[in-house]
Formats: sequence, structure tokens, C-alpha cells
Amino acid sequence: NKTIILKKRPVGRPTLEDFEFQETSVASSLSDGELLLEAKYISVDPYLRGRMSDAKSYVPPFELGKPISSGVVAEVIASKNADFKEGDFVSGMLEWKTQQVTDGKGLQKVSKDKAPLSAYLGVIGMTGLTAYLGLHEIGKPKAGETLVVSGAAGAVGSVVGQIGKILGLNVIGIAGSDEKTEMLIEKFGFDHAINYKTTDDMKAAIEKAAPKGVDIYFDNVGGPISDAVLFSINKFARIIICGAISVYNDTEAPKGLAVQPFLVKNSALMQGFIVSNYADKFPQAIGQLAQWLQEGKLTYEETIVEGFENTPQAFIDLFDGKNKGKMVVKI
Ligand code: NDP
Repeated sequence: NKTIILKKRPVGRPTLEDFEFQETSVASSLSDGELLLEAKYISVDPYLRGRMSDAKSYVPPFELGKPISSGVVAEVIASKNADFKEGDFVSGMLEWKTQQVTDGKGLQKVSKDKAPLSAYLGVIGMTGLTAYLGLHEIGKPKAGETLVVSGAAGAVGSVVGQIGKILGLNVIGIAGSDEKTEMLIEKFGFDHAINYKTTDDMKAAIEKAAPKGVDIYFDNVGGPISDAVLFSINKFARIIICGAISVYNDTEAPKGLAVQPFLVKNSALMQGFIVSNYADKFPQAIGQLAQWLQEGKLTYEETIVEGFENTPQAFIDLFDGKNKGKMVVKI
């Protein structure tokens, strides 16, 4: 049985040296209430970078020398817990281990028949919830409005844009390759897509794509891309600060936005967002996402990396944009 622990706190960009593989044993017999799980899919997520630092945040940091944890879909191998039986599949926050024993708390049963198991880590899991709830709760979308999404070809962004289209918005996505911008238009139905890596003047590109201005900005990346978008915000625009991956590896303190005057002038609302703030709305949101998926109104993309031993590299690759849609590791 293998475990991945956090060996060192990354400084700047994470590297493979920050992680360590250990051979661990699992208990040979279960106590009452326990179950033995075998990991099938592990979610790697940009937010885990924050937990690898010891800075205070909304979730406690990972401890050095201890296993990393994230969303995992696992199979029940043995159970002494009345709620779960051998052969069930579950999803929950679990450790980066090939096998582990848990007490079943916080685990949700998932069904292979309703959706592929990996989807429970993406479009009908945490990143789908983030897209749905961030857009609805803070974005307050109205048909006909213009929505800009950064990190648009990723797990959260690709779902945000599609929901925007379902709700009748004009949707503009920003992503880091031509392959990705093409996918946004062809596969996900975005109206416009901008490759920020090949566009010299992002401010002009946004103005061109959004001639009537931006009513909602769903921000996954922060930094200069966001500064460029905010030049175009409309009166009473709503800005969802979901993530800021472009600065997660920075080693210097942030210098702050250059665009506050635009927020003032346009009475815009910029609000930070953490998906767990809306836990009471998860069942309704998952129900809606699953229904759209079934009806074919929503689709998804995922990048599946094979092999437990490639989990750290898959995580690091998020910072190079190597994923399209949700990045997951298949065990
Ligand atoms: P993604 O699937 O979007 O993967 C990360 C993507 O970020 C990459 O594919 C890459 O795409 C892009 N990226 C990497 N570096 C940069 C950079 N320097 N500038 C611009 N883009 C970059 O991840 P998620 O969908 O899981 O997460 C998206 C964001 O949402 C993250 O910031 C994450 O922290 C946040 N989040 C927040 C939650 C909350 O509750 N607030 C919950 C879940 C996620 P590209 O090729 O386009 O550069």
C-alpha cells in the first residue's frame, strides 16, 4: 500500500521533491464502523497549493510528513459499517493512499450507472458546484448579459461558461492555448474565446469581444488577465473571485489591483467565493447539474492521468495548463 506525504512546503512553483512516497500498511482487520477503501480516482486541484503553505487560510494547512488529502472516488473493499457494503463506490475527502481505512464519515455513495466515476470529482462534484453556485449566488445572471470567464478551459471555468449559455448569456472565455479556445467554442458553445498567451493587448481583446461591456466576471486566475477584464466592467457588474492561480506560486506579497477606480465608477460588486459557504445548496445544485448532463445541455472534458505514482506530477501540471477540463488521476 502506497501513501503520498508532503515532505517540504513548496517555495514558489511546487516540485516533485516536495512530495514523498511511502510504503504503508493497512490494518489487517476492521473495527466496528470501519471500512477499507481502495482509491479509484484522485482529484488534483489548484487550491491544494494553498494548503501546502503554512499561511492561515479558510482550510488548515497540510502537516509536513503527513498524507495529502483531496477529493477521491474509492471502492469499498471490506466493511464493518452498516451504511456501506463491499463493492459500493464512495466519494469524499480522503488521503492520497492506494488503500485506507475510514469510519465512513463525510463519504457519499456514488453510482457508476448514473455517471462515470471520475465525473463525481468534476462536473457533478466540487468543481461543478463551484461553477454553479459562484455564478448564481454572486453573479446573479440575467439573460442577455455578458459573462467573461478566466481559466475557462479548466474544470470550473468550462462549466461556468456552459451554464452561462444555458441561462442565455453572451459568454467569453479566456484560456491558454488555441486548442483550448477552439474547444470552448466548438465543444462548450462559448460565443468568444481569447488565448491570453498569444494576445498582446488583453484589454483591447476584451473590449472587442464584449462591445457592450462585461456584466459578470467569473475570475479563476487573478493577476494581469483580471486587470484587463476589469477595464470593461459595466455599471453594477458582479465579479466572482473564485481563484487566483496566476499568483498561487508567487513568493512576493501581492501588489494589489490597479483597477479599483473602475469598481467605484461602475458601482461594481467584487466578492470572494468559497464553495463550502453554500453547503446547504449542494443537493439542489448537484441535482440541476446532473439533470443538465442527462439532458445533454451540459457536457464536460477531463484529463485523466494514469497511475498513483503520477499524482504529484499531475498536480504540478495544473500550473502549466496541461489539463483540459478536470484533471484527475486514475489509480
Ligand atoms: P483548472 O482545471 O482550471 O486548472 C488550472 C488551470 O489554470 C490550468 O489548466 C491553466 O489553464 C490555468 N492557469 C495555470 N496557471 C495560470 C496562469 N499563470 N495564468 C492564467 N491561467 C493559469 O482548475 P480548477 O477548475 O479546479 O480551479 C480553477 C480556479 O478555481 C483555481 O484558481 C482554484 O483555486 C479555484 N477554485 C476555487 C474554489 C472556491 O471554492 N473558491 C473551489 C474550486 C476551485 P490555461 O492553459 O488556460 O493557462
